[in-house]
Amino acid sequence: MDAFGEEHTKMYIYENRLKTYVGWPFEEGCVCTPENMAKAGFIHTPTENSPDIAMCFFCLKELEGWEPEDDPEKEHKSHSPSCNFICLKKGVTDLTVEDFIKLQKEKQKFHIKKAGKEDITKFEEAAKRTRVEIIKTAKDEE
Ligand SMILES: [Zn+2]
Repeated sequence: MDAFGEEHTKMYIYENRLKTYVGWPFEEGCVCTPENMAKAGFIHTPTENSPDIAMCFFCLKELEGWEPEDDPEKEHKSHSPSCNFICLKKGVTDLTVEDFIKLQKEKQKFHIKKAGKEDITKFEEAAKRTRVEIIKTAKDEE
C-alpha cells in the first residue's frame, strides 16, 4: 500500500473506514462495534491469525486483542496520545484547507517513522543472519 497515496487519504472519510470491517468479531451490544471503531479512526487490517487487528489510518497504531467492552476512542488515546486525528476537535468535513494541510504533514511524519522502523528491523535481521554466516565460515576454516 502506498503510504502517501489516495488509499490512505480516502480513509479520512468515516464511511470508507467503516467499509473495511468485514468479518469483525464484535457486533451489536459491544462497545467496539465497527461503527465505533471507524469513528475512532481505525481501519480493519486483519491477518490470518489475528482477525481483530485494527490500525489507525492516521498514526498507524495497530491494536489487537479487543474486548467487547473496549472503547475504541479511549484505547486510541491511551495507546497513541500523540495522534492528531483522535485529538481533532472538529469533524473532518469542518476542516479548512490549511487545517488539512497541517494535518497531512503530521500524518506523513507517522508514516515516515513507521517506514524507518521497519527498515531498521529489516537491517537488524539481515545483520543477525550475516553474523551467523561469518561465525559458521570462521568455524569451518578452523
Ligand atoms: Zn491514531
